[in-house]
Amino acid sequence: MLILIFILSIEMGSAASPDPYGVILISWDGISKDTLENLLEGDGLPHLTNLLENGTIINISITDHYPDSIAGHAQILTGYSPEQTGVFKSMRYGEIPLGMTVFERLEDTFGSDNISTAIIASQEKSLGTLKGLPFYHAGRVVDYYYGRNSDAGLVGSVASESVYHFGSLGRFFIFAHFRDAADAGYAYGAGSHEQIAAIQEIDEATGMILQALDDLGISDKTVLYVTTDHGFNTGPKDHTGQISLWMVTNEPGYNLTGDQKDIVPTVLKRLGVPYHEMNPPYNATALIP
Ligand SMILES: [Zn+2]
Repeated sequence: MLILIFILSIEMGSAASPDPYGVILISWDGISKDTLENLLEGDGLPHLTNLLENGTIINISITDHYPDSIAGHAQILTGYSPEQTGVFKSMRYGEIPLGMTVFERLEDTFGSDNISTAIIASQEKSLGTLKGLPFYHAGRVVDYYYGRNSDAGLVGSVASESVYHFGSLGRFFIFAHFRDAADAGYAYGAGSHEQIAAIQEIDEATGMILQALDDLGISDKTVLYVTTDHGFNTGPKDHTGQISLWMVTNEPGYNLTGDQKDIVPTVLKRLGVPYHEMNPPYNATALIP
């Protein structure tokens, strides 16, 4: 088994590694690393465990912004710091400047006929596309946008329908966001029975996305990244100071630690986009060799 992992890692790192069919980036909003690790160790997340079979769990840190939903998702989906995006925290944000989101990078690089992009979001404010919200410009270029306050089951079904649709057309990048664990965190605290139940519902809904890939026969050609925007406190029902995060991928051969800013360069590199050429330059590094 170790030998197999070693061989796969070598193949991943080689220049001959084919570009994948698509990338799916999923945010499980507001889940601390220790909460996730306890659930994985207790076999409480069958679908995430399945995804990790040949994959990697990466320690991700927030180093330059307040850990909340709006600043976290701005960084996860741009790779830039708040000084560059103008998205600092819940009460201090604006539209991310034109062209800086990963959706715009991909549409600009490949051309709109050569990639499908989609946002399936369950929180209107932090991921909304109305004028004045951070993802206003992204909303103009994505092929599909869904942004309503929704539970995991609904997000899972909309996201899996998007996979069936775009996955059969060609190259794609899909972002999906699950809010349920953060909602349970605000109401009951991190690691509470209610939050654990919410995380397990999110795992089930993530399984719907994986099933769609299986049904299309493109699981092996699709890279998955599952991460969180910030952790959550157990005592106070908030996320102050929760900057030690995680990301799970279905692929081997990744760095084991990284910055939240590294996620976009990683997505771009995995799709074969030369991220070093982007302007403004990323102060970040892809998590794959
Ligand atoms: Zn959040």
